Amino acid sequence: MSNALFNLSGKTAIITGCNTGLGQGMALGLAEAGCNIVGVNRRSPAETQQGVEAMGVQFLAIEADLGSTTPIAEIMHKTEQQFGTADILINNAGIIRRADALEFTEQDWDDVLDVNLKSLFFLSQAFARACIHRKGRGKIINIASMLSFQGGIRVPSYTASKSGVLGLTRLMANEWAHLGINVNAIAPGYMATNNTEALRNDPERSTEILKRIPAGQWGSPEDLAGAAVFLASNASNYVHGHTLAVDGGWLAR
Ligand code: NAP
Repeated sequence: MSNALFNLSGKTAIITGCNTGLGQGMALGLAEAGCNIVGVNRRSPAETQQGVEAMGVQFLAIEADLGSTTPIAEIMHKTEQQFGTADILINNAGIIRRADALEFTEQDWDDVLDVNLKSLFFLSQAFARACIHRKGRGKIINIASMLSFQGGIRVPSYTASKSGVLGLTRLMANEWAHLGINVNAIAPGYMATNNTEALRNDPERSTEILKRIPAGQWGSPEDLAGAAVFLASNASNYVHGHTLAVDGGWLAR
């Protein structure tokens, strides 16, 4: 198989929430494959920018809070101004709130759904419209979760949002595949990032989780790079509506 299948030289990817964690791991992976990166963040992505630029590609930082859909038009506009077009969108930004279902607040419901599902959908819509306008291919990669497949405990809005991400990935693929837009998702298992800090600091939960992972360890941001490059590249041109688990075997148990 030729490496050209995975080559992203001359492409541009918008990645949300790439100042840290899995978004950073995927930004560095795509940059290594030759892709320019538009990083959409609430905070400075200086470390990611440095790593991306060290690979000899460009990084555009856009400051935006995806707790609302307001910044979406500007994200597309600034990307097009700098790079002409965006070829890849990775909807990675996400938050989690933990509380028993009986105590869960409406605020914790709305905050999580707004970032994890609503902004993901409307940014995908804006990206797809731009692809259709320029009659070009597009690759959308949504970040799902084990809780796209399972119920979990103490994270009702997160489970609802990530189950929604799996469903929306299929819906968007069904509507846009024939237009040359691939919509797929990656479902990370238990990865060592800010998102799982509380779990990893809880000795009981942490031991329980680790014992159940066939690979015997938490995943790292670098572990997502290969799946992200695959779904962003020509290697996946006939893959539509799929949610790819990168989970150390968690779902196989
Ligand atoms: P993380 O380190 O907390 O990263 C989340 C990213 O999303 C950060 O860059 C964060 O920015 C950004 N973000 C959150 N709210 C935002 C907002 N309103 N506007 C713009 N950006 C916002 O956690 P992570 O584990 O890398 O999470 C990345 C994605 O993977 C999330 O969708 C998460 O649900 C998913 N995931 C993670 C795991 C895991 O085990 N870690 C498993 C399955 C799925 P700030 O730094 O400013 O907060």
